[in-house]
Amino acid sequence: MISLRPLSLGLKPRYVVSILGCLASILCVRAAEPVPALPSTRSPEVAADPIGVMVAQLDLEKYKATIKALTQFGDRRQGTDRNRAATDWIEAQLKSYGYATERLAYDFFPADPRRPSGPAVAAGMAQGGGRIRGQIAPTGVNVDPLKQPDAKLRALNEQPAGIGRREEVYCTKVGTTHPEEMYIIGAHMDGHGWGEAANDDGSGTAIVMEIARILAAPDVKTERSIRFVLWNNEETGLNGAYAYVAQRAALQGKEDPVGSGQYPEPKWLGMIQHDMMLFDHGAPRADGTMNPEQRPEADVNIEFQSSAKFAGDAQKLAWFFATSNEKYATDYPAAVGQHMTNTDSTPFMDHVAAISLRENERGAQIGAGWDPHWHQPTDVYSTFSDKDFRLGLNAAQTTLGAVATLAGATLKK
Ligand SMILES: [Zn+2]
Repeated sequence: MISLRPLSLGLKPRYVVSILGCLASILCVRAAEPVPALPSTRSPEVAADPIGVMVAQLDLEKYKATIKALTQFGDRRQGTDRNRAATDWIEAQLKSYGYATERLAYDFFPADPRRPSGPAVAAGMAQGGGRIRGQIAPTGVNVDPLKQPDAKLRALNEQPAGIGRREEVYCTKVGTTHPEEMYIIGAHMDGHGWGEAANDDGSGTAIVMEIARILAAPDVKTERSIRFVLWNNEETGLNGAYAYVAQRAALQGKEDPVGSGQYPEPKWLGMIQHDMMLFDHGAPRADGTMNPEQRPEADVNIEFQSSAKFAGDAQKLAWFFATSNEKYATDYPAAVGQHMTNTDSTPFMDHVAAISLRENERGAQIGAGWDPHWHQPTDVYSTFSDKDFRLGLNAAQTTLGAVATLAGATLKK
């Protein structure tokens, strides 16, 4: 079971007043406890809050620089040299932050039986549940190299995917008092579509890496463990995440070697995925055009899946993240929805509380064409503005605030 700490809004019903007591007293109705105001992000309370100090270390320019660095490997398509080079680069960064890294290996073939075909969706309904509203724009995966106008990028993305062995990298901040329990923070490092996979999912990969970097500082301690995983083969059917669950679910919480105090797979307390974090320009217009700017009411969409075995715990986790957003995110709010789908948290959702953070709802919004760069040659770094990158940064603030709180993070003075 997930060990959620109580939310800071300590609302408890205090209306249990007997009728006799009521008659005997003039004070017939007792007021509920007042709701304590959440401190604003720049208040002295947050400035003195160690987790606020950690969140304040997230920096827009550093976040952008990590995304930009990932784009040097083009679309990082699974099964290619550019994908392997990107995995090596990510691993080198995690090592440079001070982590011991690990790799999970698996075999992938295009007809992998673990690849979910996905249930048929009725007209007007969305994958994962929910209804599509308003204008719909076309979606799909670009497979035409000539649609990439940049000749250098076209050449970089040329090698097709091979078959066989794949690897993905992860590292762990080991808990001081509960190393046998952990939260998993993930994003997928592979992409496709003949662009740079800057948004899908360089934007999520950079969130995981930036949070890992900040929590690696020697003065940061966490009671529980936190694992950072950069999935491979998401775009082919979540194969890297399915392989992780298949290989490691049964190892949870086992001390190995016995008596060592080491837990190669701490018990899962929650899984949090980040996938497409930048672009919330609203719905497509009737003429097919889009708002060229981030919409002012852009938000971070936190989704759980209402059909999951752990939907109840996942819902609590999602609302905990929404509360963290109110406390720590500087610009954009969060919205919670019940239709998480088509991302690496799906393989976890019947094992543990699993949620995803995104620029929009995956099924009813991205699925209806709200992101015209999705799997297209235009998913390149130069497509996005600082207002777009800032939405990703706000998702990072949300996750760091929530996970640091849940894992019991403290800062040595
Ligand atoms: Zn993706």
